[in-house]
Amino acid sequence: MLSLSNVSVSYGPIAAVSSLSLQLAAGEVVALVGSNGAGKSSTLKAILGLEKSKGTITLEGQDISSAYSVVRVERGIALSPEGRHVFPAMTVRENLELGVIGRTRQDEAQLTEEMLQLFPRLRERIGQRASSMSGGEQQMLAIARALMSRPKVLMLDEPTLGLAPIIVDQIADLVLALKARGISVLLAEQNSEMALSVADRAYVMETGRIVKSGNAAAIASDPAVMEAHLGFGGEAA
Ligand code: ATP
Repeated sequence: MLSLSNVSVSYGPIAAVSSLSLQLAAGEVVALVGSNGAGKSSTLKAILGLEKSKGTITLEGQDISSAYSVVRVERGIALSPEGRHVFPAMTVRENLELGVIGRTRQDEAQLTEEMLQLFPRLRERIGQRASSMSGGEQQMLAIARALMSRPKVLMLDEPTLGLAPIIVDQIADLVLALKARGISVLLAEQNSEMALSVADRAYVMETGRIVKSGNAAAIASDPAVMEAHLGFGGEAA
């Protein structure tokens, strides 16, 4: 479905992502885990074309490495960015409508209805300004907005950051519900425990490189990896 081959992202002299290769199969949930500054956000932005990158990115076998971001969205990639970035002064409905790409008003109404079925809480809040909602509700809105483009690949950047454990569980359930609908999910998380619990496979990132990859359950149960790269182990575990 999505494939990265030797992708690198630099900010001037800073190499944020170095020769990264990664695969996401159709209907798969893949976790990209690693600490703050490992390069996860830069990888997701490169996939959407929001940051310039070297290397090759293909979607369904087609090279999209030099395509504009809007073309990548039209081809089926969506990003729910870190920090949520909903538009605070706009209503839930208006925020959702912003996620629609190149569709008619009828599509827009149908897509909105689909999202309200998936996120019943948003239906209750439909006319409310995004700023008046809780962090968890805003996160759900940000994900729903990304889904409004009907992506084949949904990228979630730190969806659980700063949220209460009960909301973290809801986001985990949501990822599995999206997978059941056939959407491939690339989940970038510092919360490796949550990410590894829902992912099929995982890539562990450190200073811009993949240091480990494989079955998510196997990585979660490997104390050496959890300790060396994901901040678990000893007293802190
Ligand atoms: P976080 O969860 O904190 O976002 P991350 O794993 O997503 O971490 P990135 O945000 O991709 O990591 O950052 C990777 C590296 O690139 C870090 O060293 C960061 O300081 C640097 N970096 C990120 N964005 C920029 C930028 N716009 N300009 C300069 N350096 C940047």
